[in-house]
Amino acid sequence: MERPRRLRLRPSMRRLVREISLEPRHLVWPLFVHRGADPEPIASMPGQLRHSLDSLMTAAAEAVHLQLGGIMVFGVLPQEEKNATGSGAYAEDGLVQEAIRRIKAEHPDLLVMADTCLCEYTDHGHCGIVHEGTVDNDATLELLAKTAVSQARAGADVIAPSAMMDGQVAAIRAALDDAGFAGTPVLSYAVKYASAFYGPFRDAADSAPAFGDRSSYQMDPAGGYWDALREAEIDDREGADMLMVKPALPYLDVLPLLKQRFHKPLAAYHVSGEYAMVKAAALNGWIDERRVVLESLVALRRAGAQFVLTYFAPDAARWLLEG
Ligand SMILES: [Zn+2]
Repeated sequence: MERPRRLRLRPSMRRLVREISLEPRHLVWPLFVHRGADPEPIASMPGQLRHSLDSLMTAAAEAVHLQLGGIMVFGVLPQEEKNATGSGAYAEDGLVQEAIRRIKAEHPDLLVMADTCLCEYTDHGHCGIVHEGTVDNDATLELLAKTAVSQARAGADVIAPSAMMDGQVAAIRAALDDAGFAGTPVLSYAVKYASAFYGPFRDAADSAPAFGDRSSYQMDPAGGYWDALREAEIDDREGADMLMVKPALPYLDVLPLLKQRFHKPLAAYHVSGEYAMVKAAALNGWIDERRVVLESLVALRRAGAQFVLTYFAPDAARWLLEG
């Protein structure tokens, strides 16, 4: 009789045949920074903070200590600093630029990713310039390219465009090359769905659109695989170095699809809503947080993610290092 249980009977046997690895280097921690002198808790994301520049440095040191794959920095601007063109995104002395400069000065070996979008900086909360009620794709490209160059100049190791504008990877690649950053890789949010799971992030970054939603540029969750493959193919052709799927667990089927097709590292963004649900259940004592988190991250690795952006990164790394 076939007895699969033979390989499960002893811990040493299970360890030998275990195929999927999960290590701190596979985890990237998204961090929020604001202008305030003190960090602020984010109500819908227990354990996460809107960092001050100083507390962000503490988080960066923790990321180094825990041997994380890297961090990604998001800026949270006060309403009065936002405007129609999101100029805070590409200001040379912008919040994220300053944060990255400080982190890289202190931790040159920590991999720092910059999210490249306008929605945290526009007063209407959309990811690009708005003309007559819709986001103007081509006018937005130039601003995304400027944002990417300013982030690279500040020291960002990876540029991660998330605006879902057509042609954004090509525009950013060309601008980076022109500005002398041919060696800076682009991690494209290639397959990004218009998802309700982003809710807590919008509280955290105060970036909910003032009118309408993002369905005219982010993908339809009920769209076919043709849509996911088309978006990934375009970004692959435009020169993305790495491709991302966002959100993570609800789109677990999309990762293996891309894994087979593209010979580039894949990332999954385990988003704020996925974090909040686990936290809420754990705080109620309904689930074992540690086991649920590690099982979720292993599932993403098994589906094909080389690395995962997750708010659980420091906790998960600590659990993994404890063994
Ligand atoms: Zn955006």
